[in-house]
Amino acid sequence: MYSIRRWVVRNARFFEATYQAFEPVVIKLAPLWNKVGYQRVEKPVSKLEKLSKELLFDCKMCGQCALSATGMSCPMNCPKSMRNGPCGGVLQNGNCEVLPDKRCVWVEAWEGSKKMQGGGEIHVVQLPLDHRLQGSSSWLRVARQATDEASQHKQERHDD
Ligand code: SF4
Repeated sequence: MYSIRRWVVRNARFFEATYQAFEPVVIKLAPLWNKVGYQRVEKPVSKLEKLSKELLFDCKMCGQCALSATGMSCPMNCPKSMRNGPCGGVLQNGNCEVLPDKRCVWVEAWEGSKKMQGGGEIHVVQLPLDHRLQGSSSWLRVARQATDEASQHKQERHDD
């Protein structure tokens, strides 16, 4: 798992492009999610998300995916769950002070983000983790957010 995780970071641009192609599909399917009901699709979609992302990113299903802002290195693999950069304990060789045989998740994130087109997003401050979303699908959340934003814009145009 660890070597796959590191391989993904080395190929962060490829995974960024894959997600850029995948995200609009999930958003386009929003009417379907709405029709079936988000609650009903949550279980199968989150299972599918877990299966694919666990294998590739060692995903912990935090429900608020930050991969596109962290060089495809999942911040939840940090033993201190640091979501906004490394702690002060990174070893001189770039490894983790808690797991000294492993690279710091944030050293990896920096390397991965340098390979990505949108790598500058690593500078964006991540919001504190909402633990109520643990185990839920980030994909569905993205679709839901996009639909909500679209209907809000529609409403604002209507009001003008
Ligand atoms: S940031 Fe969250 S959803 Fe994304 S790979 Fe890590 S644990 Fe999974």
